[in-house]
Amino acid sequence: MSEKKTCLVAGGAGFIGSHMVRRLLKDGYKVICVDNLCTGSKDNIKDLMDNPDFKFLEHDIKEKLAIDGPVDYIFNLASRASPIDFSKFPLDILITNSRGTHNLLNIAKEKGARFLEASTSEVYGDPKEHPQKETYWGNVNPRGERSCYDESKRFSEALCMAFYNKFGVDVRIARIFNTYGPNMRKDDGRVVPNFITQALEGKPLTIYGDGKQTRSFCFVEDEVDGLLKLMFKEGISGDVFNIGNPGEFTMLELAEKVKEITGNSSELVFKDLPEDDPEKRRPDITKAKEVLGWEPKVLLDEGLRKTIEYFKDLKS
Ligand code: NAD
Ligand code: UDP
Repeated sequence: MSEKKTCLVAGGAGFIGSHMVRRLLKDGYKVICVDNLCTGSKDNIKDLMDNPDFKFLEHDIKEKLAIDGPVDYIFNLASRASPIDFSKFPLDILITNSRGTHNLLNIAKEKGARFLEASTSEVYGDPKEHPQKETYWGNVNPRGERSCYDESKRFSEALCMAFYNKFGVDVRIARIFNTYGPNMRKDDGRVVPNFITQALEGKPLTIYGDGKQTRSFCFVEDEVDGLLKLMFKEGISGDVFNIGNPGEFTMLELAEKVKEITGNSSELVFKDLPEDDPEKRRPDITKAKEVLGWEPKVLLDEGLRKTIEYFKDLKS
């Protein structure tokens, strides 16, 4: 029997990461989860701690990391991702996505590992092209409140390409669009956990701006499936793919869905729109469909139902 391959998942105790590490263990990989728990939680992985194929390292990727033994695949999911953190932790975000990504790319180079970077639809900024294709270069304000995240993710893409071009490291870049599901934090600040928590607590749902801005929401199991297809596909080194669900909804539509599924008659309360909040966002996933044979399967209503069940079961 061949030896199991080893995956290093940075950010593996976070929302997407905790689903990723479970799926990798189920698929027969060994997993090293590296996380500093700044937004992640041991609760997300506590059932895996006794698994002999799973190892947890509490470590900040801003600092260099030495790993014993082979590493075959590195998933870099380590970064704060909620807009409420952009004004609170700008330097942490900038350095994590630059020096942190650099530290992990050096491990990939040293170990001969394949590398997947979790980039973001935020590299498109407030897009002038709609829907967004991978060929679009984006419309990002380099000095605004979101710039610590948007620009450092753009820099992380540039770093990946430099390691690919200069050292031949096998890199793949995923531009992840708004993803939601179980294991998001109640107080994460992103729109889906906010609306669900508010509805379940009978509080008004907070709509920023007029609520007509759009987003495209991907259920986490679909997202993880897309990221794995991207990592394990042969012959696409150095390439970039949008991984998201093209269904597009206004925040008013999302609020109505959450109210309907929770059976809650919460009011809507309108708050200021954050600076540089993108007006619309929808991935063009033609490339992922054609090259990776991937497309999302879970409709928003179904994914919201599963997420609402998770939040109902959470002990506050
Ligand atoms: P999350 O906050 O739940 O997960 C991030 C994880 O990274 C957490 O466990 C956190 O503790 C860890 N982390 C952060 N900085 C670290 C550091 N310096 N060292 C070690 N660990 C660190 O967020 P998520 O939604 O699961 O996001 C995962 C990745 O996907 C992020 O890179 C994010 O930018 C990207 N992404 C997510 C979305 C989305 O909609 N969820 C969209 C686009 C991109
Ligand atoms: N939003 C909202 N109410 C909230 C939280 C967010 O109306 O309580 C809006 C936000 O202004 C944005 C959209 O929902 O237009 C998605 O926000 P999120 O923070 O989830 O992610 P983003 O796509 O902005 O990174």
